[in-house]
Amino acid sequence: MTSTISDKKIRLGIISALAEEQEGLIDAMQDAVTVTHGMREYTTGTLWHVDTVAVLSRIGKVAGAMTAATLVEKFGVTHIVFTGVAGSADRAVRVGDVVVAESLVQHDMDASPLFPRFEVPLTGLTRLPSDLALSTQLAGAAGRFLENEPDGIKLHRGTIGSGDQFINDSVRIATLKERLPDLLAVEMEGAAVAQVCFELNIPFAVIRTISDNANEEAATDFMHFVKTVASRYAFGILHEFCKGYVSTH
Ligand code: SAH
Repeated sequence: MTSTISDKKIRLGIISALAEEQEGLIDAMQDAVTVTHGMREYTTGTLWHVDTVAVLSRIGKVAGAMTAATLVEKFGVTHIVFTGVAGSADRAVRVGDVVVAESLVQHDMDASPLFPRFEVPLTGLTRLPSDLALSTQLAGAAGRFLENEPDGIKLHRGTIGSGDQFINDSVRIATLKERLPDLLAVEMEGAAVAQVCFELNIPFAVIRTISDNANEEAATDFMHFVKTVASRYAFGILHEFCKGYVSTH
């Protein structure tokens, strides 16, 4: 069953992957209080009328899992939204496009032959679904934000893959795509957050702006993109998301 975010009081956990993405959010927060725990700074406050806890994930699956679990267990968040950047895994997904995850796969998970390739052991799942209601609201917010951006930027919904690897190799990304044909983007944290939220029964959504094509140019493209575009997108989309939430109350 999917829950909606409009039927109860929420405390929203916002996990950002990059400092550039988080700075603007914290500046926009009212009554911000920062607590340091486990090598991360958790900032609680009111963001555009929504009770929020914002934190930087650091990089990789363990980092993402640690952050999500702490948000739930220590800071009492009821919903989690993850924003970050990702490499494209599909020709139709271009640098600058935005992808909202419908499901997430740990593309480096391989406990075969004990469990099928990519299956998260003991969950029976290969693709961990995001919360439909929350993802739909986030995609709506992204759509509204992108209306004011140049034409040609597309919003996609589909599968995002996560692994403990920055992919900058066209052969590697092509091989992954063969094994997981529905893959739209690759990053390093989303599917770990998904597993924590699945196990703790917390609705979550993941949104990623495409920073590179996961090929040999990925590192340079990534650095450039983060500084120029990613933070503005994350800020604008979350602003629309919070406004959308408040207007339904
Ligand atoms: N040099 C960077 C390293 C960031 S790693 C720094 O100092 O911060 C890249 C981050 O962006 C990860 O958190 C991952 O989630 C995402 N990402 C973007 N492009 C990626 C790609 N091609 N492969 C894997 N992760 C990617």
